[in-house]
Order: sequence, then C-alpha cells, then structure tokens
Amino acid sequence: MNNCSRREFIKNIGFGSAALMFSRFSQGDDTSAKRPNIVYIMSDDHAAHAISAYGSKINQTPNIDRLAKEGVRFNHCYAVNSICTPSRATVITGKYSHINGVPVFNRFDGSQPTIAKYLQAAGYYTGMFGKWHLGSDPTGFDKWTILPGQGVYHNPAFLEPSGRRVIDGYVTDIITDLAIEFIKNRPKDPSTGSGQGKPFFLMCHNKAPHRNWQPDEKHAKMYEDKEIPEPTTLRDDYSTRTDAARETTMTVANHLTKTDLKMDPPAGLTGDTLLKWKYQRYMQDYLRCIASVDDNVGRLLDFLDKEGLRDNTIVIYTSDQGFFLGDHGWYDKRFMYEESIKMPFLVRWPGVTKAGTVQDALAINPDFAPTFMDAAGLSVPADMQGRSLVPLMRGERPADWRKSFYYRYYHDPGHHNTRAHYGVRTDTHKLIYFWRKDQWEMYDLEKDPGELKNIYNDPSQKELVEKLKAELYRLKKEVKDDDQFADSQPAGGVDGPFEKARNKGVVKKKQK
Ligand code: CA
Repeated sequence: MNNCSRREFIKNIGFGSAALMFSRFSQGDDTSAKRPNIVYIMSDDHAAHAISAYGSKINQTPNIDRLAKEGVRFNHCYAVNSICTPSRATVITGKYSHINGVPVFNRFDGSQPTIAKYLQAAGYYTGMFGKWHLGSDPTGFDKWTILPGQGVYHNPAFLEPSGRRVIDGYVTDIITDLAIEFIKNRPKDPSTGSGQGKPFFLMCHNKAPHRNWQPDEKHAKMYEDKEIPEPTTLRDDYSTRTDAARETTMTVANHLTKTDLKMDPPAGLTGDTLLKWKYQRYMQDYLRCIASVDDNVGRLLDFLDKEGLRDNTIVIYTSDQGFFLGDHGWYDKRFMYEESIKMPFLVRWPGVTKAGTVQDALAINPDFAPTFMDAAGLSVPADMQGRSLVPLMRGERPADWRKSFYYRYYHDPGHHNTRAHYGVRTDTHKLIYFWRKDQWEMYDLEKDPGELKNIYNDPSQKELVEKLKAELYRLKKEVKDDDQFADSQPAGGVDGPFEKARNKGVVKKKQK
C-alpha cells in the first residue's frame, strides 16, 4: 500500500492506530495474490437444524452441504442478540449491541468503523447485495444494492447509491445474480486483463427464509405430499419455566396469521389436529424458501469454480440467527434457547480448512469481523470484542479459547411480547436472567439438550448457580455492558418513518 492510500485509509477509518494494523501484508501491494477473497453468504432466519449438514430431519440442502464436505462445520456458533438488525450490526462491527448502538431495530450509525471500511481501505474491492436492514446506507462498499427494510420476495425494489429500482424476478435469484455480477466486474489484473487485480469482499445477504415465507414457482409444490417430521418439543408445556415462555406471542398454535399460512385451515380442525396442520403449512413454505437459497448457493459456488477463484476464496454460509421450527411450540427467535441463538457457520477455505471437519469450540458473531481482518492479514482493532476464528478454521483450539459467552436481548415487548433477558452459556450450561421480572432459568445442556427442565431452583444446583452468576457478571463487565441500553426501544425503526422518508419521491426504474 502506498503512502497516499495509507493516508486515505486512516482518513476513512477515522481512528488513529490504523497504522498498527498493517502486519502480514504491509510490504506487499494491493495486487498481492496471497490475500484471499471473502464471500460471506448470510441468509435471514435460516436455522442450522434446517441444513442437512447439521443433521436436519426435515430437509436436504445439498449445495450448502458442499461447504461442510469441503470445509469445516462450526457446531457451536451463536448470535449474542438473536434478532435481525442487531445481529447484522454486530457482524459488521465485531461489537456487542450496547457498544455499536443497535440493541433493537434502531438505525445503525454508519460513520463508525466497520469491517467493510477496514477491508476497503486495505485494498479490498467490497460489495454488499441483498438484505441490509440497518436503516442507514451501507458505508465502506464500492458497490451496494440493498432491499429497503425487509424487502419483498417477488419483483422486489432495491436501493442503490443512485436511487431505487425494481428488478423483476424472485428475490433470492436476484441477490445471487447481483453477487455474481459484482465478482464478474471486479478489478482485473492490469497486465493480463483477467484473474485478480484486487482481492474482493462480498456480502451476499438473502432475504429468505424470513417470514412470511413466500416460495418461488419452482419450489411451490415441494413437500405437498410429504409429512414433515414434528420436533419433539412442539407441545412443550413450559411447566418448569418462568413467565416469559407463556407470555410470548409466537406460538405455531395461536399466532401464525393468514398472511403466514396463506389459506384458511380446513373446516373442522381444532386443538391438536389444527396445530399439526399449521405446523405443516408453516414448514412447507419455510423449507421451500430454503430450497431456493440452496440452489443459489450452488450457483454461486459453481461460478467461483468456473472463474478459477475457488482456491483463493473463503466461502462462508451463515444466518443472522437461528429460528424456532416449531421447537417449544414456537416460530421466530429472540429467546436465548439453542434453536434461536445457534447460527449455522460453514467455511470452505482451501489450504486452511480441512475437508469434512467439525469445530466444537464456542464461536460468536462478534468474532466474524476479527476473523475477516485476520484472514486479510490485518491486525484486529483493539476495540473489536470478538476474536479471530482462523485458528479454529484450521482445526486448532487455542488453550485460552473462551469457555463461555455473554448474551443479551432487549426488544421487549417487541413484535412477539418477548421478555428482555441476558445470560451466559458455557460449554455445558446456560443461565438466563429476565431482568424486568427478576426471574431466572438454568439448563444443563448435556443432560437436557432440549432445555425443557429449568433447574435454577433445584437445591442440589445451588453451588453451580452461584458459579454461573459470577461468570455472568464477569462477562457483563468484560464486554462493558453497563445497562446503557436496558430500556431501549426502537426509535425511527428501520421499517418505520426513516425508511419511508428515504424512499419517498425517488424514481422507480425497471430493469430486465
Ligand atoms: Ca433474522
């Protein structure tokens, strides 16, 4: 990197110790072939247990599975605030919600440092396509085309630096088209006019399979004649839990709307038969949306192969959080239970990841930005709160790797009357505190992986409760959570007045 671009870098990042970050590639130039491309594919609400590589009992995802077969499957990767907008802010900053300022559905301040800005300033060609959902324009990207707010599945409108345009087609196909187009148009090697002139960083963010689960025509009939297995906890009676589980309004039985189900239930269905019918309708459309995501992951992987980019490209598949697929009787996410906080995280990096390996160490979404810094040969900024996953990708587990992590959810009552809570998850246990209610839950994840039996009040667990509480408060302090957003509510939410004002008056333009 020459002096001019270094000055530009420091200016762009707006943070004084930037020079410290040039480590491995400081002597190289922007055309260094050693720096890997990064393709980060993130879907929305795609639970790991709807991916066959994670042992799904309900569907097959052969293309996403290619990454697991050829790379590493992270088995314990978690969102630290299990909801769309906060997770996205955490992914791009490497920071918890209370530090990056996005605890609920509020607007992201794009003037702060992000992974895209760091990589762009270090010579990466950067692009963001699909669901952004942070309420402000993306910063740090050479190219971006994003859905306004949640966006729609069919013939979606997109926002770009030049304005708004509607693109005909199905949202998942279009986002992948835009991603492929970005790679095709990357700066080429000036001497040959092909290959790689600059490494690229691509964020390909699917809208699918977010509610209300509208499949495309190609997959519209999948699962029509097939009964999708029910989860064992579909009829959870919450008998040992605190109030929150009973108060939330995200049950398959009572809270799916006609917009979700797209039809009225057959006449005469009541009680458990109605629940069975609703679960099937819910999962049919959810899984159909995923089938399209899987096809498109395959298309992107094939394209990388065809372009000769496979060997020098890191490909990641993940989701902004997990999702309840009828687990505990619910849809949606938010709660600190496993199905909600667990993110699929599959990585293929030829020469680094070993084919078909599994990593069981605890990874969290604040780790993603430090990982990209490390992969690009840059030092991790001291204010990022996560840690590079690169050693874990190699199959190593550093002796001082974390044995617990901190979680905090704020959006109360939110869309589903969900009580705010924070907690700690260790390799074996989980302690959850619903702070507005002063109620606690504790689970033994080894003996009770379904988290059905709250053992917080079990006298034999007293010592462990105290130990986990001490760990919870240690972590809370470590991540600098001083309850600064404890009463946080969305202000000018990303689907609210801000988005509306932003879209007002801009010309609609159609593109074939
Ligand atoms: Ca989401």
